[in-house]
Amino acid sequence: MKRKKFFDTNWVKFTCIFVSLFFITAFAYSQVRVAVITGGHGYDKEPFEAMWASITEMKPTYFDYGVKKCEFFDKDHSDDFDTIVFYNFRQKITPKQQQNFLKMLEKGKKIIVMHHAISAFPEWDEFNKIIGAKYFLEDMEWEGKKYERSKYKHDVKIPVHVADKNHPITQGVEDFEEIDETYSGYYISPEVHVLLTTNCPENTPFLAWVNKYNNSEIFFVQLGHGPQIFANEQFRKLISNAIKWATEKNN
Ligand SMILES: [Zn+2]
Repeated sequence: MKRKKFFDTNWVKFTCIFVSLFFITAFAYSQVRVAVITGGHGYDKEPFEAMWASITEMKPTYFDYGVKKCEFFDKDHSDDFDTIVFYNFRQKITPKQQQNFLKMLEKGKKIIVMHHAISAFPEWDEFNKIIGAKYFLEDMEWEGKKYERSKYKHDVKIPVHVADKNHPITQGVEDFEEIDETYSGYYISPEVHVLLTTNCPENTPFLAWVNKYNNSEIFFVQLGHGPQIFANEQFRKLISNAIKWATEKNN
C-alpha cells in the first residue's frame, strides 16, 4: 500500500513537472526571437507591448536606448534575433554600428520599421535608402530637390485600404479605419512595393510598403502612434503577418 501511495503522489507530481517543463521549453524554442528597439520618442508603452504580446509566435526583447544613441549595433546581432523591429527616433549610429547594421542586411535579414522610426537615424542617409523614405524634420534639400518640413497631425481617423491583397503581409487583412497620426510631405522612393494606401487628405497616399535593399527586404508601416491602432484587430493581423514574413525561411 505504501508503494502505491508513492506512485499516486510523488510520481504524479514529478511527471506533471517534467511534462510542463517539456512543453514550456518546446514553446519557447518554437517562438521567433524579435528585438524591438525603442527610445528617443515617447509612446504608450503598455498598449504597445500588449500588441507584441498578442503575437504568441514571437518572443520580444526590448532595447530602450533613450535619446541620441543606439548601442544595439555595437555588435552584429544576425544570429541572436530572427528579425528586428525599429520604433526608435532621432538616434545616432556610428560608422562601426552602421557596418554591423548593413552586415545583417547583407545576410538577408528582413526588418520591420514602424511609424516615427522613419527618422530612427536622421543623420544617416543610407537608412533612408534602406527604408525607401525620408521624413523631413526641417526644411532641407534631399537628392537635389528642396523640401519643406514634413507635417504630422495626431488623432485623425485614417481610412486604410489594402492595395496588394496577395502579399504575405496583407493576408486576411481587411480595409479598416482607425484613429492614429498622419504624416504628410515626406519622400517615398518610387521603387517601394506599396501594400497599404489611404485617401486621407492629411496623409501621403501610401501607408505601408516593402522595400528591397541589398539581399534584404524591409517592411515599413507609417501607422503606429497608438494606442488605438495597437489594439486594432486588422493592424495586429498585419503586424503578426509581418513577423511571420520576416522570420519564415525561404519566402
Ligand atoms: Zn507618433
